[in-house]
Amino acid sequence: MKFFKKIVELVFPSHCLYCQNIISSDGLFCKDCWQKLQFITEPKCQVCCHPFELASENTNLICASCLQTSKHFDKIIAVFVYNQIIGKVISDLKYRDSTYLAKKLARILQPFAESEIQDCDIIIAVPLHRSKLRSRKFNQSILLAQNFSKTKLIRDFLLRIKNTPAQVGLKKKQRQNNLKNAFVINPKYLDVVRGKKILLIDDVITTATTIESCAKLLKKSGAVKVTILAVAKTVF
Ligand SMILES: [Zn+2]
Ligand SMILES: [Zn+2]
Repeated sequence: MKFFKKIVELVFPSHCLYCQNIISSDGLFCKDCWQKLQFITEPKCQVCCHPFELASENTNLICASCLQTSKHFDKIIAVFVYNQIIGKVISDLKYRDSTYLAKKLARILQPFAESEIQDCDIIIAVPLHRSKLRSRKFNQSILLAQNFSKTKLIRDFLLRIKNTPAQVGLKKKQRQNNLKNAFVINPKYLDVVRGKKILLIDDVITTATTIESCAKLLKKSGAVKVTILAVAKTVF
C-alpha cells in the first residue's frame, strides 16, 4: 500500500498550494509556507478570538470591544490570522478545485472545534445569495461544513435574500445597513431553531458584521447558543 502511494505520488505529485513546490500527497503546504501560517493562539479574546499581544496565563480574557458591546454570537473559533498564504487557499477554495481543498482544510480545522462539533445540535453555513451561488456553483462554507458532520449539517438553514454588495471598504454603520434584513431562516426550519445549539461555519471573518447579523437572527428565533467556526480572521 505504501509502495502504491509512492508510485501515485511520483506520477501525480501534489504541489504546495502557495508556492507550487512538490509536497507529500496528504499535505497542503511545503515546510516553508507552513511556517509562515499564523495560528491564532492564547492569549485571545474568548468571545471574538482577537489575539492579544501581551503574554498572559489567563485563558478567560475578553477584549475591550466585546466588553463594550455584547455580541449575539457566543464565541468565534478562528484558526488562522488572515495572511497572504491562507488567503490564497481560501481564494482557491472559492474559485478552484474546491471539494478536495475543503476536505484538507476541514482536517486542519477539526481539532480546534472538536468539542463544539460534538456539543452542537445543528451545523449551518453563512449562505450565499442565489445569484452568487449560480455563478460560483457551490458555497465554500458548506463544502467545509459537510466534513464535520453529515448528520448535523443543514445546508439550507439560512437564506440570503438580499444580494448585498461587497463589504470591503464600508464603514461599520454602512455595513450594518447593507446587511439589514439580508438573511432569513428558511421557513421550513422555523420550528426547529428554538432551544438549539448552533455551529455556524464561515470562511474569513473580517469585521464580524455578517456573522453578527446571522447570530442575531438565530438568537431572536430561539437558538440558545451560536458558535462560529472560521478558517481565518483578519487582525488589525
Ligand atoms: Zn510552499
Ligand atoms: Zn473580543
